[in-house]
Amino acid sequence: MSAHARDVVRACGGDELLDRLDRLDALQAGRAQAAPERPTAPEAAHRPEWDVVLAGGGLSLLMAPLLAARGARVAVFDAGRIGAVHREWNCAGDELAPLWETGLLDRTTVEALVLNRYRHGFCRWSGGGTYPVTGALDYAVDAGALLATVRARAEAAGVALFDRHAVTGERGGVSGVRFRGIDPAGRPFEGTTRVFLDARGAASPWARGDLTCPTVGGVMTGLDEGVDDPERIDPTVGEILVTTEGVEDGRQHIWEAFPGRPGETTVYLFAYEPASARRPGDLTRLYARFFERLPAYKRGAARMVRPTFGHIPGWSRQVPGPRTDHPRIVLVGDAAARHSPLTFCGFGKALRSFGPVADAVAAALADDRGPGEVLPEDPIHRLTGALALVMARPSTVPARAGALNALLDAAFRRLHGLGDAAYRDLIRDRLDDRRFVQFAWSTSRERPEVYDEVFRVLGPLGAARWGLGAAARAAFAPGP
Ligand SMILES: Cc1cc2nc3c(=O)[nH]c(=O)nc-3n(C[C@H](O)[C@H](O)[C@H](O)COP(=O)(O)OP(=O)(O)OC[C@H]3O[C@@H](n4cnc5c(N)ncnc54)[C@H](O)[C@@H]3O)c2cc1C
Repeated sequence: MSAHARDVVRACGGDELLDRLDRLDALQAGRAQAAPERPTAPEAAHRPEWDVVLAGGGLSLLMAPLLAARGARVAVFDAGRIGAVHREWNCAGDELAPLWETGLLDRTTVEALVLNRYRHGFCRWSGGGTYPVTGALDYAVDAGALLATVRARAEAAGVALFDRHAVTGERGGVSGVRFRGIDPAGRPFEGTTRVFLDARGAASPWARGDLTCPTVGGVMTGLDEGVDDPERIDPTVGEILVTTEGVEDGRQHIWEAFPGRPGETTVYLFAYEPASARRPGDLTRLYARFFERLPAYKRGAARMVRPTFGHIPGWSRQVPGPRTDHPRIVLVGDAAARHSPLTFCGFGKALRSFGPVADAVAAALADDRGPGEVLPEDPIHRLTGALALVMARPSTVPARAGALNALLDAAFRRLHGLGDAAYRDLIRDRLDDRRFVQFAWSTSRERPEVYDEVFRVLGPLGAARWGLGAAARAAFAPGP
């Protein structure tokens, strides 16, 4: 990795950020070299000590108290501290309802977790227009406080919590799953469970989606505030997707800015990429770009108060998705990559799915079977996945550096033209097939080169399958 990138990150983010990035790289390199551990499966007559083990106590922790409330013996193992999230999350207000409707938390507690509500959000593509939308990603939620509250609920419900216990391998059998790991003192441990929920996110050995979204940034202070000024932060408006230049270094870089507490804004820079393009050091390089290009996005004496970064796994639905080799080993959260390949909104997906997943796991426990795949799929992703691939593999011909922005600008102008409801539904994974096809075809009438791009990325067969699939789904979709 270039010394320049390291110098920029050290100068702007400090030694601690650089150390964290180096540790992540070392961890990834170690994982890539080590063969996955496979303990022996429990014998058929074995009675597992746990009903449900959750490997990874990040956002998926939401499920643990619900399962314990249904009488399951639940344990959570995390490589770090359970429920200690280093992220900020946005969603729409009504997407929070499952948090109280499932009985997990009470409504007043949930409402107190909301840091900010916006008048609207918008997307803007370099050289194009600004397209506002309401009711999408317009609530900024205190992620740390949410998971700390859920952790307390889990403890109260009798969930056994194992902080700093990294799970390193698992194998399923007729009676359950044997798992293995390393405790905080570096000693190996083993256990058995009837159902093993893998919530290790991008670190899961089963997280084999074909896309990744490297994301860097964090909570910033000192950005200039102002209204109707693209170079300033309006604390009452969310910036959902914004580009400030064309394709560079083979990537279309995208900004987002979500104002939170007064004077604070969460700013991210990210790109869509094929998972195969992931390289050690790429988050450090992306951070260097973040610090160097931030002044071109927003003015002010920016200071990073809490860095947040990671690779969010994704799945285009154009190839087989992540799955395990046993129905008692179940993927949830980012490891399953069932969230939108376009927005990568794992928070919204988790809010929609944690109740149904807990129900499905409880039903499987009652029948003493492996639940298999439990995450409900949002049909729209079969259509949007191809577009995510187009964004992940933009043309690298210098003369076409602005082509993706022009295409996205046309697409969002059309989407905005379809009305606030359609625009909001696309971002919230709710757009139905008929409106999606209407949107895609009206965009392609204005920008026929979208066909070239889909052909270039999917190949003729893949493009035909995608196009025919979309047409068939729209033809058989119920009318409005
Ligand atoms: C920088 C960044 C910003 C994001 N912003 C948003 C946003 O604004 N809106 C949104 O909807 N989504 C956002 N996301 C995505 C969202 O955070 C994820 O979709 C969500 O956290 C996934 O939940 P999860 O439970 O699958 O994994 P995580 O919440 O990532 O939790 C994984 C857990 O597994 C643990 N772990 C890892 N390896 C092991 C192991 N071997 N053994 C045991 N435990 C292990 C980790 O310590 C961690 O606690 C963002 C992601 C990133 C990286």
